[in-house]
Amino acid sequence: MLDREDYEAFRSSVRRLAEDKIAPHAASYDEESRFPEETLEAFKELDIVGLPLRESHGGNAADVLVQAICLEEVARVCATSSLTLMVIWSGLNPINIWGGDKLADEVIAPAVRGDVVVSICLTEAHGGSDMWGAKTTARRDGDEWIINGKKSWISNATRSDWYTVLCRTGETTFGVFVVHKDDPGLSFGRLEKKMGMRGSPTADVNFENCRIPGHRAVGDPEKGYDYITSSLTRARPMIAAQALGIAQGALEGAVSYTNEREIFGKPVSSYQMTKGTIAELATKIEAARQLLYRACEAVENGEGNARMLASMAKLTCSNVAMETTVEAVQLHGGAGYVRDYPAERMMRDAKITQIYEGTSEIQKLIIAKSILAN
Ligand SMILES: Cc1cc2nc3c(=O)[nH]c(=O)nc-3n(C[C@H](O)[C@H](O)[C@H](O)COP(=O)(O)OP(=O)(O)OC[C@H]3O[C@@H](n4cnc5c(N)ncnc54)[C@H](O)[C@@H]3O)c2cc1C
Repeated sequence: MLDREDYEAFRSSVRRLAEDKIAPHAASYDEESRFPEETLEAFKELDIVGLPLRESHGGNAADVLVQAICLEEVARVCATSSLTLMVIWSGLNPINIWGGDKLADEVIAPAVRGDVVVSICLTEAHGGSDMWGAKTTARRDGDEWIINGKKSWISNATRSDWYTVLCRTGETTFGVFVVHKDDPGLSFGRLEKKMGMRGSPTADVNFENCRIPGHRAVGDPEKGYDYITSSLTRARPMIAAQALGIAQGALEGAVSYTNEREIFGKPVSSYQMTKGTIAELATKIEAARQLLYRACEAVENGEGNARMLASMAKLTCSNVAMETTVEAVQLHGGAGYVRDYPAERMMRDAKITQIYEGTSEIQKLIIAKSILAN
C-alpha cells in the first residue's frame, strides 16, 4: 500500500483530468447514447487503463485502492465513463493474472497503451445471478477451440476489440476464453435501450462455431469458474467505487444548487431541513467510503474475509448512491427533474449499481453465507 499522501495526490490528478476532459462530454454521452471516445483519449494522459496491469507488459500493477479511487473520481463526473473503464479492467483481469505470455503480448500490451476496448461476457439469458448455469460451450478441436452460445447484457459490446468469455468445457468445468472482434462466428443482438449508462453500448453477444487459437484459453481451461469468482471479488469494490463517485457528485451538485437557489428570500441550504438532509447524506457517503477502502485493503492482501467485505462495500455504496441521487433530485425541486442539471442523469445511472456484477440480493447471500459459516 502507498502512503495516504500518495493516494490523495493520485486522486487530485484524476480529479483534474475528469473535470477538464471528461465532465464536458458527460451529458452528451447520455443524451446521444454516444460511446465515451473522448474519455478513452483522456485516460491515455495518465496511463489509466494500464493501472492494474502486469509490469512485465508495461502496466503499473497498482493496488486495488488506487483503482477504486480512480473509478470514484471518474464516476463523480460521468458514470458512463467509469463503466467503460471498469468493464475494460474486468475483461482484462483474468488475462492479466492467469493468461500466458503470448496472450498477454496480444492483449495486455496494447491495453496498457489505452488502445483496446474489452468486454467481460458472463451473463446468459436464463439468469445472470446463476453463473453456474451458463450454457455457452468451448470445445477443443486440435490446437483450436470452438465456442458456441449467447451472452446477454454485455457492456461495451459493439465497441470492444476483445471479449473475455466464460464457457463450459465439461459437465462440471468452465474455462475462460478470449475472442477477437474479427474472429469468425461472432455477432451481436440489438442494442438495449437503457434507463441510464446510456453512453455504454449493451447487447447480446453471439458465438456461432466461433473458432479461436489455443493460446487464447486463459490458464487452465478447467479452472475458469474459480478465475471468474476471484475476478468478481476484485470487480465488486470497483462497482462500489463507481457508486460512491456517483453519490459524491450528486451531493456536491445538490450543495451547489441549494446554496444558489433562494426561496422565501433565503438560500434553500439555509433551511434546517435541508441541512439535515445534506448532513445525513454526507455521513452515509463517508461511512460507505471507509467500508469500501477497508474492502480494497482486504482484497489487496488476500484476507479471508475479502469476498464478504467486497460484497458489503458493493451493497452499501450502491444503496447510498441510489438514496443520495434521489435526494439530490428532490433538493433541486423541478430543476431536478429536467436535464439542465446532472442530478437526474446521476439518479438513472445509480440504479444499475444495485444490479450488475451481482444484484444486492446476491451480495446479501454472499455476506450471510460467510457469516453463517463461522
Ligand atoms: C446495463 C447492464 C450492463 C451489464 N453488463 C454486463 C457485462 O458487461 N457482462 C456481463 O456478463 N453481464 C452484464 N450485465 C448483467 C448483470 O450482471 C445481470 O443483469 C445481473 O447479474 C442480474 O442478472 P439477471 O438480470 O439475469 O437477473 P436474475 O438473475 O434473473 O434476477 C432477477 C431477480 O431475482 C433476484 N434473485 C436471483 N436469485 C435470488 C436468490 N437466490 N434469492 C433472492 N433473490 C434472488 C435478483 O436479485 C433479481 O432481483 C449487465 C446488466 C445490465 C442491465
